[in-house]
Amino acid sequence: MLTKVKTKKVQYANPIFNRMSEEEIREYQFVLLKKQLKYAYRNSEFYREKFNEIGIRPEDIRTFEDYYKLPIFLNKTIERAIQKESMERHGHPFGLHLCSSPDEVVFTGTTSGTSGNPTFTYTFTEEDINFLNGFIAHMLDYGGVHAGERLLFSHSLGIYATSSILWGIRSQGVLPIDVDVRAGSKMILEYAKMTRPTAAMMTPSLAEHLIDKAPELIGMNVGELGLQAIFTVGEIGVGVPEIKKKIEDAYDCRIYDYLGELGFSCDSDDYHGIHCVAPDLSLFPNDLIDPETKQPIEVYDGVIGELIATELTLKALPRIRYSSGDIVQVFTSECPGCGFQGRRVKFIGRSDDMLIIKGANVYPSTIKQVISNFIPEITGELRIVLNNPPPRVVPPLQIKLEYGENSDSRKLADLERRIKNALHSEARMTPEIIWCAPGTLEKALTKTPIFEKNY
Ligand SMILES: [Zn+2]
Repeated sequence: MLTKVKTKKVQYANPIFNRMSEEEIREYQFVLLKKQLKYAYRNSEFYREKFNEIGIRPEDIRTFEDYYKLPIFLNKTIERAIQKESMERHGHPFGLHLCSSPDEVVFTGTTSGTSGNPTFTYTFTEEDINFLNGFIAHMLDYGGVHAGERLLFSHSLGIYATSSILWGIRSQGVLPIDVDVRAGSKMILEYAKMTRPTAAMMTPSLAEHLIDKAPELIGMNVGELGLQAIFTVGEIGVGVPEIKKKIEDAYDCRIYDYLGELGFSCDSDDYHGIHCVAPDLSLFPNDLIDPETKQPIEVYDGVIGELIATELTLKALPRIRYSSGDIVQVFTSECPGCGFQGRRVKFIGRSDDMLIIKGANVYPSTIKQVISNFIPEITGELRIVLNNPPPRVVPPLQIKLEYGENSDSRKLADLERRIKNALHSEARMTPEIIWCAPGTLEKALTKTPIFEKNY
């Protein structure tokens, strides 16, 4: 059982925001926004063209409402096209939206490139990196990781976005033990045993996977590794109460969900979302559109919308009116766990993961969340079977589930009825359940797929 310590209030990374009201923070952000738009207009032919197409200049934007009404400038597809064009015309791969000189770029990182060619979305100048390091240091400090300590870093190393986090870890005086996740569980666990880090960074599914593997691979439980904090990124896992509790109990430490430099979840038993600690880095999460109509929607406590990103302050490749396809729920009320008064965000899914079943929008993460309430009667692993391209699904939606190790096959019908009832009331759908033996749905070290696509 996790030793209960008093929940610490999350603060903004830049202390000036801790003394400001929400309104003052918005005003401050608006000044940064105007400055950034002028900078991008002046330095990037792509952004200049975008403004010219709609017949305005950055000076014409007088309010956030003016700004939120502008069309989307960028998404992955456009990003790929303008990267190709910048290589052809200027001999660099970063895209026509590059605002600095390519010589000033000191880091470039892509997403894992699971769909299509990777994009160099995370491209920074030295000034950018130094600015971003402050946010990572702030998070480590909140998680109780201090200079002189070690941190097990098990992401895919190399050209990936997560590699930029290493700079932030070092800037805090913490030694990263960077073991590429592709080296496998045994290697990761052996390095953890040898170096005894205070903290770890990995995906929640890897953290979960190592719980099962540690006794066999290194002859000890993960709880004996002595970790005091785990920071996870990239999946919804920690937002599911059972998964958060399972990992925290097994490792006997707190798990924090973080979103790059934008924010992290607090030190509370319950999950209250990513606390947005970086108003000077991004407008996140105040610019939202309706996932279906793509029209701007207003932010209020509990609103669900698709994120439009605009990065402030960054100099190399700031994203401006960038549609990431992420669907989030935004909370504007004070955090019930720690008292943080800024915005909080829970990830709901991706607009391209959204399913429409009998006219209702259903997100895989909601299904996962409902299903996880039935652990250990089930293992929690699941696949949503798609026989046709989404979003429209001809009902019933098929879901593959693994029954638990010790479950009684005679009680499966009853379990199935209870799961269907829960999904009906909480996700507005009644699926067909396909039972699988425990351990038969493959678990990936990086990101476990949620869909099984049969088309
Ligand atoms: Zn909190």
